[in-house]
Amino acid sequence: MPIYTKESLENLKSRIDLIEVISRHVPLKRAGAAYKACCPFHEERSPSFVVQRSSQHYHCFGCGAHGDAISFLMQHVRMSFGDAVQYLAEQFHVPLEIADSKEEKQAGINRLRLKELNELAARFYHLVLLESKEGKVGLEYLFSRGIDLSFIKRFQIGWALRTEGPFLQYMKKKGATEKELEFLALIAKRGGQVREFFSERLMFPIQDPQGSIIGFSARKIEERVFGGKYINTKETILFKKSKVLYGLHFSRKRIAKSGEVIVVEGQLDALRLIHQGFDMAVASLGTAFTDLHVKELIRMGAKRVYLLFDGDKAGQKAATKCGTFFYKEGVEVVVVPLKEGDDPDLMLMREGPPALVRSMARGRDFVSFLYSHYGKEVNFAVPAEKNRALKEICELIALAEDPILVLESIRKLSALSSIPVEVLENLVKSPHHELELYKEQGKKGHSFDPDKILESDLLRWLLLYSHENEELLEVSLQNIVVEDFKNGIAKKIYHLIQKEKGQMNLLQLLSEIDDEEVDLFIEEIMRKKIKKERAKEDLLETIQKLKMRNWMEKCEKIQKEIQSGALSDEVIVERVKLFDQLKRNPPQVCASY
Ligand code: ZN
Repeated sequence: MPIYTKESLENLKSRIDLIEVISRHVPLKRAGAAYKACCPFHEERSPSFVVQRSSQHYHCFGCGAHGDAISFLMQHVRMSFGDAVQYLAEQFHVPLEIADSKEEKQAGINRLRLKELNELAARFYHLVLLESKEGKVGLEYLFSRGIDLSFIKRFQIGWALRTEGPFLQYMKKKGATEKELEFLALIAKRGGQVREFFSERLMFPIQDPQGSIIGFSARKIEERVFGGKYINTKETILFKKSKVLYGLHFSRKRIAKSGEVIVVEGQLDALRLIHQGFDMAVASLGTAFTDLHVKELIRMGAKRVYLLFDGDKAGQKAATKCGTFFYKEGVEVVVVPLKEGDDPDLMLMREGPPALVRSMARGRDFVSFLYSHYGKEVNFAVPAEKNRALKEICELIALAEDPILVLESIRKLSALSSIPVEVLENLVKSPHHELELYKEQGKKGHSFDPDKILESDLLRWLLLYSHENEELLEVSLQNIVVEDFKNGIAKKIYHLIQKEKGQMNLLQLLSEIDDEEVDLFIEEIMRKKIKKERAKEDLLETIQKLKMRNWMEKCEKIQKEIQSGALSDEVIVERVKLFDQLKRNPPQVCASY
């Protein structure tokens, strides 16, 4: 997870409205200065879940559930810590700025500056396309594809010159250093020679969701030009190809508002759709669509996805794969039929937007699509082939996490295939399903580490509750010092708690602790709930355990030294004394309140 700048997190913190966050998931009722609801964390008939207006915390007087916006999203909506932070940033329109890493700082590199330079490069390419002699080829090509000036200007399409020199001169004149341009992969140095990376290609700027240019996608229009049809900027600190959703900057608002998204294969397809009013289209960048892309879209609010893929075999296969990612997460998948060899760009040019709207309305649900897709590959009249195909479809259905979705899909498949629901249900209940879930959990890094668990047990109290119960903090400070922790992140968190005297929240950790693993640690902290009425006992017990652990380890260490045979007699006598003293004084927890 990236490290964000302190300013942007502070900004986010001040903008979060807890009532708004919670009321999206739990129906809150106004009761004086507070809002109440039946607790989402335990079964109850009369509401004891309370959110004070202007407070940053919710509390349940029934089960003791307690926390802030982030812990709510983590525990109720099952988001990861990183997802919760990004979700909030999205909901409250706070752009999160990624802080420069140590290496970047050492190299004198600054992300904001790099984005500005990309912006300048895009302007240069754009001007070359519109104004220069060399750019004419590109312009003519675009016109021939039915792309007009308003389109070109809107997406800032450009042209990279064949002649090297002018680009570099322009960028240098604007203050760019060669090092910065190298960082952006706009130039490469080979054997002391500087080479420009893009040449004789149409340049399509690639934006991040906030609209900053992070790289370029370059298309050649003449066969003789070296390299593939499209080449992209190489991976840089700004540009991570596997994460980019092309067009998202233009589509995100409508996706968030309508919950609908169109996924296409080609970048030009995405731009054409957006330009023709379908400003909810995205494409991946030449790579296959992955579950990272899907999670990003779901986070933005996607509830229904239209897949507009080529009608040929490869396109249909890609639709199956991409559709599965969405289906699995409970997003409604609609596969829109296109003719073989057709793409959304050609179709829109030929038939116009109303025809596309009609096609989308005629789209197939995912199970029907799968059934007809397999029907083209195998002969359903042959029982063995039908059996194999249905097994494969059921395996995909089993991937869905929602049992109702699984059941509904089986019913649909049963109607299509004339095979009874019960028979198909047995195919779905394969051990495969649980295995996948198990793997998912493994990936999230929930490995068993008793030290980490013990230390997060203590920090949980201090992070989630000590701002309400100051004694908890006092008693911790009396008994525990930073050095008592083993885990590096736990040390940093405890140090911060000391410094801020408990007045802090989860977001602050993100800005103060410069460690990529901090989110995993926070997820460990959030895995358990605190029981408010047991605050005192629980905290004291945890402190006692922590001190005992350290005391025992100290004793063992001395014992080992004595037995090692490597010490002089004098030192041994000294160590034995120390050992006896330690043994006679097991740790005591002082609780002076
Ligand atoms: Zn409760």
